[in-house]
Amino acid sequence: MTARLISLLTLLVAVTGLLLAAPFPVMAGPQAAAPVSITYDFQWIRQGSVGIVRVMGADIADVRAVFQERVHPFYSEKGGFTGLIAADMGQDVGQYPLQVWVRYLDGTSERIDKTIEVNYGEFGRAEVYLPVSLMPLLERSVEDEEMARLSGFFKRSTPERYWADEGFALATTAPQIGPFGSWRLYNETTWRQHTGADYRMPIGTPVTTVASGRVMLAGTLAIRGGYVLIDHGWGIYSGYAHMSELLVVPGQWVRKGDVIGLSGLNGRSAGAHLHWEMAVSGAWVNPEQFVGLGLEAGQ
Ligand SMILES: [Zn+2]
Repeated sequence: MTARLISLLTLLVAVTGLLLAAPFPVMAGPQAAAPVSITYDFQWIRQGSVGIVRVMGADIADVRAVFQERVHPFYSEKGGFTGLIAADMGQDVGQYPLQVWVRYLDGTSERIDKTIEVNYGEFGRAEVYLPVSLMPLLERSVEDEEMARLSGFFKRSTPERYWADEGFALATTAPQIGPFGSWRLYNETTWRQHTGADYRMPIGTPVTTVASGRVMLAGTLAIRGGYVLIDHGWGIYSGYAHMSELLVVPGQWVRKGDVIGLSGLNGRSAGAHLHWEMAVSGAWVNPEQFVGLGLEAGQ
């Protein structure tokens, strides 16, 4: 009798233990969603660089990611969602949370937490000497005002892909004279970080677009001088500065390789050159690294 009771208790404990150890309720319905898969094309992102994140799963309606307090929209293609995660050139090296928000067709949503490592951008240093008359263009208020104007565009992320199958490239054989992200000491007084890449070009050299898109701005800025800003869709913008002549107008559609202006020497510039810059999801990124991502249509 006692032995039977003990074995019954043992069985009860075993069953209870099994129930407690079960990670999920036994009643998994037929509508249980398949797990969402999140993959990267990178191990880490360098300062001023872009990484591609892909989210795949059943019944997904929308995906957004929050990284460094910026919302990165994702774009639907080929049965999945693709997002471009950008680390600003000024972001400190370290581990940062990436929140991936997934909304499903039935209206429910979930947050998936990931960690992204931001690594050194390995930016160089250079000294630049400006004519004294251009020194006021180093004032922070001038920079802030110009950046605020550009940020107004960067806030808008066009969900359509404006660039075509051939992707992005700057068609020039001009030598690069100033790399992206370099720290520049102007007139031995003021440090500023370079938002783009510089190419030596005689005044009047035709400047072409790096990809198809829509002209958002064609005008004169204090620091960038004669400037054209193009929206390529997906929160990707390219800018071309110090041009002597602008050959496009805001709202105009351009194709990759179209001439948009002639290079020049104006704004905060010490010599004739083209300054080419790219912003992704509101962050300045290395234009050459971005071109190397191979973001062709249909990818
Ligand atoms: Zn420059």
